[in-house]
Amino acid sequence: MKSYKIAAVPGDGIGTEVIEAGVEVLHALAEREGGFAFDVETFPWGADYYMEHGQMMPDNGRELLKPFDAIYFGSAGDPRIPDHITLWQFRLNICQGFDQYANVRPTRVLPGVKCPLAGVGPGDFDWVIVRENSEGEYAGVGGRAHQGHAHEVGIDVSVFTRDGVERIQRFALELARTRPRKQLTLVTKSNAQRHGMVMWDTVFEEIKSDYPDVTTDKMLVDAMTARMVLNPKSLDTIVATNLHADVLSDLAAALSGSLGIAPTANLRPEGDFPSMFEPIHGSAFDIMGKGIANPIGSFWSASMMLDHLGETAAAARLMAAIERVTAAGEVMPRDLGGEATTRQVTDAVIEAIRAAND
Ligand code: NAD
Ligand code: MN
Repeated sequence: MKSYKIAAVPGDGIGTEVIEAGVEVLHALAEREGGFAFDVETFPWGADYYMEHGQMMPDNGRELLKPFDAIYFGSAGDPRIPDHITLWQFRLNICQGFDQYANVRPTRVLPGVKCPLAGVGPGDFDWVIVRENSEGEYAGVGGRAHQGHAHEVGIDVSVFTRDGVERIQRFALELARTRPRKQLTLVTKSNAQRHGMVMWDTVFEEIKSDYPDVTTDKMLVDAMTARMVLNPKSLDTIVATNLHADVLSDLAAALSGSLGIAPTANLRPEGDFPSMFEPIHGSAFDIMGKGIANPIGSFWSASMMLDHLGETAAAARLMAAIERVTAAGEVMPRDLGGEATTRQVTDAVIEAIRAAND
């Protein structure tokens, strides 16, 4: 029987709660599906590890992760440690170290979930935001001088390489091609940022003719926020820089009903390093430890992981189980207007997986 090696990296805050729930769901799914199993190893890295060892993960952390088929990540971030340390030493260390350059974020309103936009509901929009995940505004290039003095400066430099731009745009064009509408929107800010962003536009103009079956258009990022809110049905696949897509995808998550639902995949399409799957949300300090986090973002991320592993039937079964629970509306987590705990939502989804009679 096929056994997938999964590295579970729960991290901090509610990350630990939703990944534990997700691992249970994965095992239930393998049992229901038959033919494969998950061999899950958990790496207890993050804030507690930092308090003991002075770093978020060990020096050889990526070496330990490399042999796995996929990484299932929770969240990095703890009230005791500055966010830029937790993020860079942990999540970005893995994403950038494994050159997981394609960050993929599907968004739609699940049945039974209320979209905050009036007159918009399930089935009305179905987006995939593709975020450049290896460079750009989060390249980590910059510095500070005259620290603590009145004339202190802080500089963050955006790094855009032609290779980096071309590979993410081609990835997005290929992805758009596999979707029913075959439509891709390029998002930049090439009016105000007249170097790297103009290069994004130029590269897009050069390569898009290789995909004549894909309909394309372009938006400035500020106008894009308005279009997402005012005309969500007009969008399908979207590609943008690291920063722009980070912001747009939080907006997208909110429009889908809650940040607690939204999933993401950090893909290494070449497969020479493992890809990583995680809910979009963070550690949620306000609710951590209470057992009330919505685990659906973690489950949807697990479904993306199954797709990536080639277990498309199991991926679809998991999404169907999630949707059966949200559509029924009886067991809804708090962020979706219900009162259910993480445990109750997890049990309901596992029940739906077992009950499926196909
Ligand atoms: P957050 O996503 O942790 O929380 C934002 C709000 O959404 C909170 O009110 C929270 O309760 C709610 N929320 C988020 N996920 C939820 C869920 N599954 N169920 C119910 N409610 C949920 O964002 P933040 O407050 O900006 O960040 C908190 C910490 O998490 C920070 O340290 C930040 O750096 C970190 N963070 C990490 C990641 C990551 O690792 N990918 C992403 C975002 C934030
Ligand atoms: Mn974000």
